[in-house]
Amino acid sequence: MNLVALLWHLQTTDAELDDKTRRARQVEDALANDPAVVAARAANDDAHKRLGATRAQLHDRELEAQTLDAKITEIEMRLYGGRVTNPKELDSLEKDLQMHKRLRGALDDKRLGLMDAVESAQKHADETARAREQSEIARASALEHLARERDTLGARLGELNAARERTRGALNADALRLYEQLHKTKAGRAVAPIKRDACSACGVGTPTGLIQRVREGNEIVLCSGCGRILAA
Ligand SMILES: [Zn+2]
Repeated sequence: MNLVALLWHLQTTDAELDDKTRRARQVEDALANDPAVVAARAANDDAHKRLGATRAQLHDRELEAQTLDAKITEIEMRLYGGRVTNPKELDSLEKDLQMHKRLRGALDDKRLGLMDAVESAQKHADETARAREQSEIARASALEHLARERDTLGARLGELNAARERTRGALNADALRLYEQLHKTKAGRAVAPIKRDACSACGVGTPTGLIQRVREGNEIVLCSGCGRILAA
C-alpha cells in the first residue's frame, strides 16, 4: 500500500473501531441491565402486594361478621329466652338487636365490595404474572443474541486493533502526526476521497495536476478548502 492508501485504510479502521467499540458498550450495558424485566417484576410484585392487602381486609371483615353474629345470637337469646320480662329492658334489647343487625347489613355490603376487589386484584396479579413470564422468556432469548454479538464484536475488535497497529507501523512519524491531528479536528475524517474532481468532504474542486499526484499516492496533498488529506 502506498502512503495515501495506508492513511485511508487507517481512517476506515479507526471509524469501524469507534463504531464497534460503541456497539460493544451498548451490548455490555444491555447484558447487565434489563429495564423491561425489572419493570415487569416490579408490577407483578405490586399486584401481589395489593392482592394480599385486599384479602387481609376481607379476612378482617369476615372476623368482624363472626363477632357480630355471635353478639346478635346472644341478644336474641336474651330477648326471646323468656328470662327477661321487664318491658323497658326488652325494649332496650330490641333496639340493641336492630342496631347490630344494621351494622351486620352494612358489613355485608363492605364484604361484597371487598370480594369484587379481591377478584379484580387476582385478575391483575395473573395478568402481571403472565407479562413477567413473557418478558423473562424474551430476555433469555435476547441474552443469547447479545452474548453471541459480544463474542463477534470482541473478535472483530481484536482484528481491527491488530490492523490499526500494522498500518500505523507502516506510516512515517510525520504522516501519522498529521493524520492524528486532522482526525481530532475534523471529526474523524482526516482523509477525504476526491469525487468528481472535488474534495468529497467540503466540495472544493481539486486541480487536475493535484489529482494526478494524489492518484500516485506517494505524497500527502491537502485539500485547499478544508485542509484534509486528499485520497483518490
Ligand atoms: Zn476539502
